[in-house]
Amino acid sequence: MGLPAYRAGQIYQWLHEKQAASFEEMTSLPAALRSRMEERFELVCLRAVERKVSGIDGTRKYLFALPDGNVIESVLMRYKHGNSVCISSQVGCRMGCRFCASTLDGLVRSLRPSEMLEQIYRIGQDTGERVSHVVVMGSGEPLDNYDNLIRFIRLLTDERGLHISQRNITVSTCGLVPQMLKLAEEDLQITLALSLHAVNDGTRRQLMPVANRYPLDEVLEACHIYFQKTGRRMTFEYSLVSGVNDSAADADALARLLKDQHGHVNLIPVNPIKERDYVQSERKTVEAFKNHLEKSGINVTIRREMGRDINGACGQLRRSYLTS
Ligand code: SAH
Repeated sequence: MGLPAYRAGQIYQWLHEKQAASFEEMTSLPAALRSRMEERFELVCLRAVERKVSGIDGTRKYLFALPDGNVIESVLMRYKHGNSVCISSQVGCRMGCRFCASTLDGLVRSLRPSEMLEQIYRIGQDTGERVSHVVVMGSGEPLDNYDNLIRFIRLLTDERGLHISQRNITVSTCGLVPQMLKLAEEDLQITLALSLHAVNDGTRRQLMPVANRYPLDEVLEACHIYFQKTGRRMTFEYSLVSGVNDSAADADALARLLKDQHGHVNLIPVNPIKERDYVQSERKTVEAFKNHLEKSGINVTIRREMGRDINGACGQLRRSYLTS
C-alpha cells in the first residue's frame, strides 16, 4: 500500500500484542488507512457461540464460530503452574481413531494460523488472565496441517506478541512419521506428544487406522530421533480402554517398548463416546497399570480429568452442537 515501514510494526502490535478484533480499534492508525485496510484485508476474529464453565474445577470450554461459519472448540484449564489452553488445529479430523469424537464426520478443513492464534487471544481476553501454556490436543491432527502449525508456533512465541515460551507448547500427534522427522529439524524447543495407545501393531491398528501406514517401530524410531535432535523429552499418551490395552501384559510390553526412550507416559482413562462401545478401565486397573510401569522404571502420570461436567473431552461439545 506504499506505507512507511513503521506502520507494519504498528499493525503487528495491534494484531498480536493488543489482539485487536477489528481494524477500527487500531486507533494509532489514521482513520482513512483503517477503512482502506477494512476494504482490502480480512481480520480473522473468532466469536464465542457457547461458553461453559465447569463447576468442579473452573475449566472453561468454548465453542467458537470461524468466519466461514464452521465451529471449533477450545478449552482453558487452570493449573497451579498457570493457565493452559487446548486448541483445535482442524475442523474435524481425517485420522479416524476409533475412540475419538473429533473424527466421526471426517475432516472439513484445516485451520489457518490466525484461527489457531485467535482461540488463545479470545480466551485470554475473556478471562483477563495470561495464558502461559498451549497444548495442540484439541480436534484435528496438527501434523496434518504442518505449515500452518509452524507459522502459528512462530507467531505465538514471538517476543512482539504473546511471547509464550516454546517449552510451554505441546503438540500431540497420532504418529505421522515424515512430519515428525521434519519437526525435529525446525529448531524448536516444543514438546512432542505421541498418541501411542497400544503396544503392538495389531491392537494399534484396531484403535488407530494411521497405524496401517506407519508401524510402531518406525514411529518409535522417529520419537528417538526427535529427542536426539531437539533434546526434548517425549510424552507418550496412552488411553486405557477396558479389555483392549489395559492388562498387566500390556503394561509389561509398554515398559519394554519405552525403556530406551527418553520421556514419560501419560495415562488417559478413555472417555467413552456414545457412538462407540469402548469402556473406561476401572480405577484400580489404571492404578495397577501405573504401578507396573513405575516398577519398571518408567516415568508415568495419570491425566487428571477436568471439566467432566461440561463435555470436556475431544470434540464432544462441537458434536453435541452439530447434532442437536
Ligand atoms: N491428533 C492428535 C491430537 C488429538 S487428541 C493426536 O492424535 O495426538 C489428544 C489426545 O486425546 C490423543 O492422544 C487422542 O488419541 C486422545 N483422545 C481422543 N479421544 C479420546 C477419548 N475419547 N478418550 C481418551 N483419549 C482420547
